[in-house]
This record gives sequence, C-alpha cells and structure tokens, in this order.
Amino acid sequence: MMARPWNFSAGPSVLPEVVLQQAAAEMLDWHGSGMSVMEMSHRGKHFVQICDEAESDLRDLLGLPADYAVMFMQGGGSGENAIVPMNLMGRRGAPAADFVVTGHWSKRSYKEAGRYGSTHIAASSDHATQIDGREQGPLTWVPPANTWQVRKESAYLHLCSNETIGGVEFLDWPDTADLGAPDVPLVIDASSHFLSRPMDVSRCGMMYAGAQKNAGPAGVTMVIARRDLIGQALPICPSAFDYANVAAEHSRYNTPPTFAIYIAGLVFKWVKANGGVAGMEAANKAKADLLYGYLDSTSFYRNPIHAPVRSRMNVPFVLHDESLNDAFLKGAEAAGLTQLKGHKSVGGMRASIYNALPLEGVTALVEYLKEFERRHG
Ligand code: PMP
Repeated sequence: MMARPWNFSAGPSVLPEVVLQQAAAEMLDWHGSGMSVMEMSHRGKHFVQICDEAESDLRDLLGLPADYAVMFMQGGGSGENAIVPMNLMGRRGAPAADFVVTGHWSKRSYKEAGRYGSTHIAASSDHATQIDGREQGPLTWVPPANTWQVRKESAYLHLCSNETIGGVEFLDWPDTADLGAPDVPLVIDASSHFLSRPMDVSRCGMMYAGAQKNAGPAGVTMVIARRDLIGQALPICPSAFDYANVAAEHSRYNTPPTFAIYIAGLVFKWVKANGGVAGMEAANKAKADLLYGYLDSTSFYRNPIHAPVRSRMNVPFVLHDESLNDAFLKGAEAAGLTQLKGHKSVGGMRASIYNALPLEGVTALVEYLKEFERRHG
C-alpha cells in the first residue's frame, strides 16, 4: 500500500487510521450481521444499536446534560445556517436573531438567516483595529465581549467558535446574561474544532458541527439543542429538518446518513480511548505550540491572527515572498505533506491540524518549513 501523506486538509480531512482499519475489517460483515452497515435498514436492530451508541458516546465525551437533545442530521454547516433560523428564530414572536461576525463562516450564517427574519450584527471584527498598540487586520481578532450589543428580544445569538478559513478561535465565550440579554441563548457553530478540547455545552442553547473535520466523514451534522428551545419552528420549516421531529425519533425521523453516523461513532470511541476531549486538547496544544512557535521565530513566514485567538485547528500563514507559493506547495507534496494551499478567499497557506493528525505530521511540516526557508531565504 502507498504510504499515507500527512493530510492538512481543512475538511473533509484526515481520520484516525485505526478507525479506517476497523471500518475496512467490518465492511462486508458488521459484527456477524452478514452485511455492511451501508446495507442495513435504519430501523433495524443493528443500526439502532450503532446510532444509539454513537449518541451515548458523544454525550459522555461532552458531559452533556439530559435536557439537551443530540441529533444526527444532514445538510452540513451550510444547511444549519437555514435550519437553525427556521427552528429557533420565531420562538419569541417576530423572528429575530443576532450575530457575532469574526470570519467567512459567521458571515455566511448571518446572511442566510436574513432570509427568515430580522438579523442584527451584535459585534464584528470585519475592520482593522489596534490591539495593544498593534494593527490587526479585518477578521483576525475577536471583538471583546463587553462591546457586544445584543438585542434583548432576539431568539438567539449566533457565533462561529472556530473560523476554519481565517484561523480565529474562541477559547471561551460569554454568558449572554453578562451581556444584558439573559433570555438570548447562544447558538454556536463549532464545526471545525468540535471535540478538540473540553467545551461546556450547557453554557449555550445549541451547538452544531459538520462531522468532516474532527468527527467523521462528510454527510452527517451533529446538532445539540436544549430541549426547551425545540418545538417552535417556523411554519415553513421542512418536517425532516424540524428538530422536534428529529429529536423525538432519535435521528431516525427520515433515513439518516447511516454510514457516516457509523464512522463518526467509531471516531467518538477513538476519542474516548485517547483521553477524551481533555486528551485531544493536550495533543492539539502541543501541535499548535510547535507550529506557531516556529512561524513566530522567523520573518520568512507569518500568521496574521491576534495571538490569544489563534486557532489550534486551522493555521493560516503566508510566505514573505508570495512568488514562492507554487514552489512551496510543489515541494510540500514531494515531501508527503498535502493540502496546504490556503482558502482561495485569503490566499497563502493553511495547515489544518485536526485531532486525527498526529504530532509527527506537524513535526514533518516544521522540518519542511525550515528546509524550504534554508533553500529560499
Ligand atoms: N461552518 C464552518 C466553521 C465550516 O468550516 C464550514 C465548512 N468548512 C461550514 C460551516 C459549512 O459546512 P458545509 O460545507 O458542511 O455546509
């Protein structure tokens, strides 16, 4: 078999090799069932077991209280940009929601919600600012919580806790009571750092994440919602996307993405076996410290993000001489380092260093960064 490259893709992205091996071993015959998980009825006892186990493992990992529903849905993060407003926006009367804009994905959420009701930007970093005497460019920082202006009558306050493209991560988020809006629950798009560190989900009303970064293959979205927020969907909400239906039927209101849920379930078991989310955090911190430490030690490369909110998952960087970009990427591929090209909207490079990418992968990247600099510096 060909050696696997170190895969820095932002998603779909690297999965734990042992998960792939187990899926391969079970491909033709899942646990003596005589069939692949792909061939099973979503209502049969085998798949019900797989789905319920995935849910309970996820609950364990997050320490999730019983008053939160866990739903495995379809539509990804982009789907949730519409599904969340349709479910929640009208729960306090005239549909209204507030947004914190810190990058591409929170902006997309804000724009899409505008189709369903009144939207308001509570805070935005989409402009340059000075922090501690240093210039920070647009979308490279997080507005301090004491500047957020949340409408008290809003149905929720949305933020994206890890901007996959920009590389801005919230290490914490405020309680809306401290923002003068105690009845406005937080809704968090945690797609690209889900399960990468401990998070107290009980401090928000909802959290959702596409699986294809830290939690499994594309096709399934993990949706977690406090139960009292469910059941007040706008009349236009499709039944299959109404959280009340999905939660009542334990993610089997319609046919869910069965194989993706199965693989996500194996990833949850892998996280549990490797120290849970605290274990993931320790490993992710070591990887991020290694990479940022090197980027900061040289002027050949640069990461533009305000240091306290640099993402541990997605590390964008630019070369001081952008004319070297093609040579950099070509050399990286030859060295077995793949998918380092930055998102087209920001250019440069981006290394996504999700849970399943081992420290050796980041070590290999740093070695390559040094070597490239030696040759071209
Ligand atoms: N939110 C975030 C933070 C993302 O990274 C992405 C995808 N990269 C999305 C939303 C959109 O997800 P999808 O492509 O699954 O619709």
